[in-house]
Amino acid sequence: MKQQGTIYGINGPIVYLKGKTQFQMSEMVYVGKMRLIGEIISLNNEMTTIQVYEETSGMKPGEPVYGTGQQMSVTLGPGILNNIFDGIERPLKTIEDQVGQYITKSVQVESLDTERKWPVHVTVELGQEVTGGMIIAEVQETKTIVHKSMIPPNIDGKVIEVVEDGDYTVVEPIVKIQQLDDTIVEIRLAQKWPIRIPRPVRRRHESSVPLITGQRVVDTLFPITKGGTAAIPGGFGTGKTMMQHQVAKYSDADIIVYIGCGERGNEMTEVLEDFSELEDPKSGNSLMERTVLIANTSNMPVAAREASIYTGVTLAEYYRDMGYDVAIMADSTSRWAEALRELSGRLEEMPAEEGFPAYLASRLATFYERAGLMQNLNESEGSVSIIGAVSPQGGDFSEPVTQNTKRFVRCFWGLDRQLANERHYPAVSWLNSYSLYVDDLSAWFRDNVSPDFINNRRQILEILHQESSLMDIVKLIGSDVLPDDQKLTIEIARVIRLGFLQQDAFHQEDTNVSLEKQAKMIEVILHLYRQCREMISMGMPMSLLLENQIFNRVVTIKYDVPNDRLDLLDQYLDDIDQFYNHIMATNA
Ligand code: ADP
Ligand code: MG
Repeated sequence: MKQQGTIYGINGPIVYLKGKTQFQMSEMVYVGKMRLIGEIISLNNEMTTIQVYEETSGMKPGEPVYGTGQQMSVTLGPGILNNIFDGIERPLKTIEDQVGQYITKSVQVESLDTERKWPVHVTVELGQEVTGGMIIAEVQETKTIVHKSMIPPNIDGKVIEVVEDGDYTVVEPIVKIQQLDDTIVEIRLAQKWPIRIPRPVRRRHESSVPLITGQRVVDTLFPITKGGTAAIPGGFGTGKTMMQHQVAKYSDADIIVYIGCGERGNEMTEVLEDFSELEDPKSGNSLMERTVLIANTSNMPVAAREASIYTGVTLAEYYRDMGYDVAIMADSTSRWAEALRELSGRLEEMPAEEGFPAYLASRLATFYERAGLMQNLNESEGSVSIIGAVSPQGGDFSEPVTQNTKRFVRCFWGLDRQLANERHYPAVSWLNSYSLYVDDLSAWFRDNVSPDFINNRRQILEILHQESSLMDIVKLIGSDVLPDDQKLTIEIARVIRLGFLQQDAFHQEDTNVSLEKQAKMIEVILHLYRQCREMISMGMPMSLLLENQIFNRVVTIKYDVPNDRLDLLDQYLDDIDQFYNHIMATNA
């Protein structure tokens, strides 16, 4: 390894070199005698600046810096899934084995196990013309996921050597390609890709398919597409992490990339334990078999936290390129932004709003823009959906991270402190949240759920909005003076809130609910609403209707009707009709 510079100054994770150096922008470097991993973040004739991804205490000016000639990259290959990495893709388990739980000194570890042999099935033949992105081999990476090894995006040529099907490590050559300029490249299961550069695709498609999460307030009211973006802003304890866990567990993505960014370490341990035990509803295997965790918790170096979201999205794009639907959870992007602020402060950059650097917005954009439904280089279709938690101080959504995130995401699932206090979970505010994907998804809901779905959804939202304005009056003068049709609106809104929007993550049936059940629950609620409206228009008082237990029975459908017994829901429609007939017959 060639020394290319000497440390001049150190400020926390930032290291300076004086004078002109041979490094390139974004080059990965080894810093100091300990050879800590760093990245060149600025470069001119007077000075070179390095961001160091490990703890720099003990390092001194005069120590050497070594170049690698490569951009800051991640290693892509089998072994990513069912694994837990730090922000620069070092496996935490291996690090722990070497230096214990706290990373206090430099550790040299490979991202992927270089000794493990994988059962490889080669899918190209000798003499075949191949282009970037083309699949060359398949490996059963975990019980759930078949890994597809691809020609790196920038390589074209002819296959001049292939191995037999068999067991290979990630560093053994699988095929040799002769390129047009006659240079020969060996392709292995493991390849590198720079984290800050999106992996190339053929084209971006508009997505018209939802990412189904099993969470009613999301799927029915504020749906996200496969390839879509969403933010979950909320104050401390309002349920951001819980919501990310629920989506990670139950959404119909093929692969989950879970980035724990600057939050408490034990939360990541929980995810790991939970996911190892929990069954994937689709495959019956452990959820970890389709999951990769990236943990850069609050006790770990701040620069690696900055890198962690790019590491995560690059891994996601890699599985997307294989044709999978990938969903990223980032918890929390606010802690990431704080890392950015701290680094910017050390660089003595001019601060903008609340001390964040002026490039906060563009950095957030480059992250969320990597989401999308794509036609890959190999013509398969895959998607990356990004769901980021935002944790503003004091739950104040006017601060810069929330506001800038809002510009780049198309779903906003705003968590409400008061709802959380009332233990209405998920505490997604139905008044302040939105999804800009509803129009894109209408046809899909019509064809795959029910022709009435979108219309019913709109009615539910209307009732909730009407309730909200009525409550202003009720607070002033009480509900007794309201006319009966408005009393009904308030009662049905209560049924919607308790019976539909509230969803208990700890209840075996309620934790994950199919779209079909969601749609039928809405149908029952709206049928009750329509029949009651009719009775009220015929002069029946609301007090009389409330004597019947039907309202409370509809509220508990979520617990009383098992997820595999949707036929029972028809009984509720009949019971509502009987209730109607009974009232009309005895009070006409
Ligand atoms: P945050 O990440 O916003 O600080 P958490 O996700 O840790 O908040 O949630 C705090 C607590 O709220 C959880 O420990 C849990 O008790 C409760 N909670 C949140 N969402 C739900 C839910 N859907 N069902 C039941 N309890 C919930
Ligand atoms: Mg949290």
